[in-house]
Amino acid sequence: MVMTDSPPPSDRPRTAKSLAFALFRPVLFAVGVIGLALGGLVLSHRSNPEIAALPPPKSLPIPTPAASSAPIVLAETEPAPPISPSDFKNLPPNLGGDLRGFSMKPPEPASEPEPPASDRYELTLRLEKGDTVDKILADIDVPEADRKQIHEKLNALLKKRKLPVGEEIELLLQNVPEQPDAPRVLSLSVRPQPEREYIITRRDDGTYDGEEKTYKVSPRIVRVEAERHGSLEQSGVRAGAPSQAMVELIRALSYDVDFQRELKEGMKFTVLLEQLVTSDGRVTHPGRLLAGELRLLKRTVVVMRYRPQGGADGFYNPNGESVVRAFLRTPMDASKISSRFGMREHPILGYSALHAGVDFAAPSGTPILAAGAGKVVMAGPNGGYGLYVKLQHTSDVGTAYGHMSRLGPGIKPGVAVRQGQVIGFVGSTGMSTGPHLHYEFHRGGKQVNPLAQKFAMRAQVAGKDAGRFQALAKQYLAQLKNAPVVAGTKKAKDKDSPQVAKGD
Ligand SMILES: [Zn+2]
Repeated sequence: MVMTDSPPPSDRPRTAKSLAFALFRPVLFAVGVIGLALGGLVLSHRSNPEIAALPPPKSLPIPTPAASSAPIVLAETEPAPPISPSDFKNLPPNLGGDLRGFSMKPPEPASEPEPPASDRYELTLRLEKGDTVDKILADIDVPEADRKQIHEKLNALLKKRKLPVGEEIELLLQNVPEQPDAPRVLSLSVRPQPEREYIITRRDDGTYDGEEKTYKVSPRIVRVEAERHGSLEQSGVRAGAPSQAMVELIRALSYDVDFQRELKEGMKFTVLLEQLVTSDGRVTHPGRLLAGELRLLKRTVVVMRYRPQGGADGFYNPNGESVVRAFLRTPMDASKISSRFGMREHPILGYSALHAGVDFAAPSGTPILAAGAGKVVMAGPNGGYGLYVKLQHTSDVGTAYGHMSRLGPGIKPGVAVRQGQVIGFVGSTGMSTGPHLHYEFHRGGKQVNPLAQKFAMRAQVAGKDAGRFQALAKQYLAQLKNAPVVAGTKKAKDKDSPQVAKGD
C-alpha cells in the first residue's frame, strides 16, 4: 500500500499562493495529528523505513502562524521537508512524543487547476482488536452526525462482512475553521480484498455516498532470484517466493537432488511464479510455482509444472520426464553402496557367483524404506537372506530386502505399503559379514540391477503432449532468465504475515 509515497515533483511553476499552501499543508497536518495524539489514540504505528530514515528536524515543528509565514520566501529554493511520524517522536511525552497509530501521506498531486488543498490531509488508521470504524472515527473526533452516515453507508456496502483486525482505513480529512477540533471526513476507503474497495465520499451538501469499486485480476509471470542461506525454503521466502511454492519446488527437486550432499551454502536458484495481480498492481495471489532452477556445483537442475491432457499437474525436467520416480534411488537414507550387482567373489562362500542385488552398508538399525508403493508378499526369515521382506509393486516389478535385524511396524504378508514407508531395519542376519542391506529388484520374476532401473521408471510426456510440452518448456527456460524479478518480501503489504500486521 502506498500510504507514504511523496507526490512526484510538479513540473508546473509554483505560484506564491500554492507555495504558501504547500507550507501550510504540513503545518495544518501537524495541528491535526497533535490534536489526534492528545486524544489519546494508541494504535499500532506502521513504520516506513524510508520515512523513518529521514533525519529528525532540528527544531520542533510546533506550528505558529508567525513561524510558518517567515520562510515562505525561502521556499523557492528550499521546499519544506515532508512531515513524517518520526518528526513527532522528539516531542515531549506530554505532547504525544510517541505518536503511535497513524501514518500519513501528502495529498496526491493536484490536477489542473490546483484546488485549495491545504486544509486536507490523509490518514491511515488500522483496526485493532475490538475496534470498529465508528469507534476509530470517534477517537479522532469526527462529528457524530457524519459518523452515523458513514456507518450506515459502509454497512450497506459491507453487508454482513466484518472487517478483520489489522484492516486499514484510509481517510481523507479536512480541517474546518468552524469546528477546529472535529475533522471532516471527505472520503473513507477500505479494501478488505485486493480486488474490492469500498469508498464513502462526502458530497457538497454534506451527505455521504457509498461506492464499491472492483479491480480486474489477471495473471503475471515473475521470477524470484535467490541464494541458499540456511533452509532452502526460507531462502526463497526471503527473496519473495511464497512458502507453498518453495515447498512444492523442494519436493519436485528432491527426487533428483541429494540436498544433504549436493546443496551448499550460497548456491543460486530461480523460482518462476504465476501471480495474480489487480489492475492497479496489487497482488492477490503471491504466486503458483511454474518452474524452478537450482544451480548445483556440477549441474543445474530444472523442474517445470505441466499438466498432461486428461491428467493432473506434475513436475517434469526439460526433457519431459516426470521428476517422480516410481522407485526411490536408494531404499534408505545416506547409504553407501558396498557391493554392486554382478559377478563377484562371494565373501563367505569363497567362489565367484552372481551378486543378484546391491548391498548398502549402513549401521545396524538404520530404517529401510519401501522403494515404491506396493504390497508385502513375504516378511520373515528366508535362508541366507536372513530376515527378509519382498514387495510386489506391479504384476511385473518387485523388490526384496535382506539381512534385516527386525521388521518395520505392521509389516507382514498382505499389507499395503507406501513409497518410503519403513519396512524394516538394517541388520546382519543370514549369510552376512556385517550390517548391510541386500537389495534386489525383480522384473518378470528375475533379478535385475536396481541401479540400472531408475531412469526407465520415470513417466514421460508423450504423444500429443510432447509438442505442447516442448513449447512450454522453451518458454519457461527463457522466462527463468528474463521474467521480471519480484522484489523480496517484508516491504509489500501482506495481510497474511503476522509480523507486518502487528506493526512494530
Ligand atoms: Zn548382497
